[in-house]
Amino acid sequence: MRRKLRWQLTWGIVLVTLITIFLISILANILINHEFSKYAAEQRKIRSQDIISSLSHQYDCGEWDVNYVHGMGMYALYEGYVIKLYDKEGALIWDAENHDMSLCGQIMTDISKRMQESRPYLKGGFSSQEYVLTQKGEEIGTVVIHSYGPYFFSENEFHFLTALHISLLVTSILSLLVALLAGWILARRIADPIVKTVQVASQISAGNYKVQLDEKAKAEELETLAKAMNHMAFSLEQQDALRKRLLTDVAHELYTPLSVAGSHLELILEGIWEPTKERLQDCYEEINRISSLIAEIETLSQVENDNLKLNRAPIDLFALAEVVTRIFESESVKKGISFAIEGDSVVVTADNKRLYQVMVNLLSNAVKYTAKGGRIRIVARETADYGVLTVADNGIGIAPEDLPLIFERFYRTDKSRSHETGGAGIGLTIVKSIVDAHGGKIEVESQVGQGSQFHVFLPKEGIALS
Ligand code: ADP
Repeated sequence: MRRKLRWQLTWGIVLVTLITIFLISILANILINHEFSKYAAEQRKIRSQDIISSLSHQYDCGEWDVNYVHGMGMYALYEGYVIKLYDKEGALIWDAENHDMSLCGQIMTDISKRMQESRPYLKGGFSSQEYVLTQKGEEIGTVVIHSYGPYFFSENEFHFLTALHISLLVTSILSLLVALLAGWILARRIADPIVKTVQVASQISAGNYKVQLDEKAKAEELETLAKAMNHMAFSLEQQDALRKRLLTDVAHELYTPLSVAGSHLELILEGIWEPTKERLQDCYEEINRISSLIAEIETLSQVENDNLKLNRAPIDLFALAEVVTRIFESESVKKGISFAIEGDSVVVTADNKRLYQVMVNLLSNAVKYTAKGGRIRIVARETADYGVLTVADNGIGIAPEDLPLIFERFYRTDKSRSHETGGAGIGLTIVKSIVDAHGGKIEVESQVGQGSQFHVFLPKEGIALS
């Protein structure tokens, strides 16, 4: 079974701390023991020297101050040093063992026991060392010091060492508890935002795009992650809404002409209506409307494809305007609309077929939305970076609130009227996609009742080529 991230982090932190504490404790222990042993061995030498020099002072004019020697000897005995003092002839002056045999035995057993328990590896034991005592360069006697070697701890030193070890142990346990707590808090801090992100991600994958992550995080990376997740949810929501709207719009656009043609044909088949030329013509027009709508949708899906391939070649915008205007000649004559092409030859590097489509869509709109006797102007000009084509009409114009929306799919300013004029609201979306693919831009100026001007900016050679 996989453990939760929070637990994994907590155990990870605790394990690292545990190893660190363990290593520090071992090292501290080794260091303390080593230094303390060194100190004890040094202390043993110093104490022996002390005894020798103190005893040397107790000899005065061939006499030993036996009382003082006794006091000193007892003091040394309690410290773990059993001494025997002889005069220069070898006669015994004072002997700790002679003085108090049982106390000596007791002290020596205690030291041996203590040292063998705490330092069994030393394999230590009691040994005697003989030193010659002198005064002003003259031999006055000898002293035999019997002590535990290579070193030993007095009871106090032993207590001190034990206390040191206990405090080390307590510190380690406390550090471990603190590490456990800190590890838990730290793990929560790291894991919580990740856990929340996972929850949000699974909600998003389940289709709930409304979920939001709190973007205020303590770490910069977590804040970026939260922002990216929220942005992703927002984009997915938009895409989803767009997809749904697109389906509804397409269904709606197809439904109207199909139901008109369908009901006409039904009435004719049932013999209620005569199959007159006008009625069949109506059906034909509705079917035509469906065909052109599907053709437009197909073009739109082609040009909205991110990988739209452009066959770029030098194109004269002025010449293109002349060609496209000719297509609308008969229609303009019928509507009594005049065309004027102004400007000069302007060459841009673009896809001829796609640019042709742009011009057709803009001109067909201009013709559609301009009343009898209107005037349409096409101007070709250039700026430093762009070749510019303007299609201007003095038609019905576009209301300011509609202007930002006219390039959206299926957007029509006045649905019923547009339906009469035959548009589905895709023409300008196609225009914009093509211009965008060329790295260009499109701008509109319009006033209701006065007319509209569409300016298409196309980068000249070598600029913003995709
Ligand atoms: P449609 O096929 O309906 O013309 P478009 O995408 O080409 O769709 O245009 C979107 C809407 O913008 C049209 O329905 C129309 O209301 C408005 N429009 C476009 N061109 C003009 C124009 N030259 N004059 C007035 N309105 C226009």
